[in-house]
Amino acid sequence: MDIVSRFLKYVSFDTQSAEDAETVPSTAKQLDFARYLRDELEDIGLKEIYLDDMGYLYATLPANTQRECPVVGFISHMDTSPDCSGANIKPRIVEKYDGGDIILNDEGMKTGPDKFPELKAHIGEDIIVTDGHTLLGADDKAGIAAIVQAMVYLKEHPEIEHGRIRVAFNPDEEIGMGAHHFDVERFGCDWAYTMDGGDVGELEYENFNAASGKVEITGVSVHPGYAKGKMVNAIRVAADFVEALPKDEVPEKTEGYEGFFHSTGIEGNVERATVSYIIRDHDRDRFEQRKRLFLKTADELNAVYGEGTVKATVKDQYYNMREQIDPLPHVIDVAVKAMADAGVSPRIQAIRGGTDGAQLSFKGLPCPNIFAGGLNFHGPHEFLPIPNMEKAMQVVVNICKIVGEFNS
Ligand SMILES: [Zn+2]
Repeated sequence: MDIVSRFLKYVSFDTQSAEDAETVPSTAKQLDFARYLRDELEDIGLKEIYLDDMGYLYATLPANTQRECPVVGFISHMDTSPDCSGANIKPRIVEKYDGGDIILNDEGMKTGPDKFPELKAHIGEDIIVTDGHTLLGADDKAGIAAIVQAMVYLKEHPEIEHGRIRVAFNPDEEIGMGAHHFDVERFGCDWAYTMDGGDVGELEYENFNAASGKVEITGVSVHPGYAKGKMVNAIRVAADFVEALPKDEVPEKTEGYEGFFHSTGIEGNVERATVSYIIRDHDRDRFEQRKRLFLKTADELNAVYGEGTVKATVKDQYYNMREQIDPLPHVIDVAVKAMADAGVSPRIQAIRGGTDGAQLSFKGLPCPNIFAGGLNFHGPHEFLPIPNMEKAMQVVVNICKIVGEFNS
């Protein structure tokens, strides 16, 4: 089976994950796809195939060299975003894209370079698009297809010497739970790569340090006609808190390595109000400063409105994986060389978010992120230039080859 047929088969499975589910995986339908993949890995002759009841699938391509080389792993996620339907995906291949608008369906929905200038880099290529009613699922089934096809390729080319290769496919990445039940010990790799980036060349090993913040305000409710000197309106205190944080350090005004405070929710009345935040920064020191400023803002408001009016708490969510990767420069060097050997210029960028790899890095598995090829994730404008996915597959093969030459 070629990589395109494999990808098209994968997106025929609806694997949408769900926020706030009590189960693991968050949706049972992800297990159907996990079982299909397990059987496929068996068919292509991978070993030590293990699917646990939470939907985590692990397998091995055994070494074909006697050389003592590191064990490297490749990881992709099986679920698609809760933001957009992943049921009855009807992918279509636009052959030799001409640079104009692509009509997605007969309701007139189209995608084009005006809105999505990234398309221009893919003129002349065959591109897989949706029918405008669902997402495509290239995030991250293009990654799975690239990894599986690379394993097939290595089996068919025994002259390429490689060490022990591990692959893993996990559920629930899109709801931030992909790394939670990932069994790093069972996986047993020196390091790994998530194949979950976007356009060709992407290589990421820096992400935000992340915390959530919560502000709980207790007001004093009094009849408004007789409130002078007595009432403390929790709503107004909440507004003061929001105003007190740096106004330009918000997602809509920051980019690159600039961190932010982002208010994600507010609810309240005179007596009680809560404001939810996320706090982000690539730099660990600035991240700690941000958390301190958040807590100090509560103290300052308490000095105005009375002790106990405002209670602020912060909770760390994840950290920048760069801390874990920096001591291991070969992890990045291998990926850069693998891309160069595939004719791809690496585009290293800092993620303004987190990845499963970030969490895995702190669980002891250094894990940068490499492109899988798709663009415009999580919506009906998602598309996948086929050469992107083929390059991702070559990068996987090249990494196996380069690591197989270690210690030689
Ligand atoms: Zn993804």
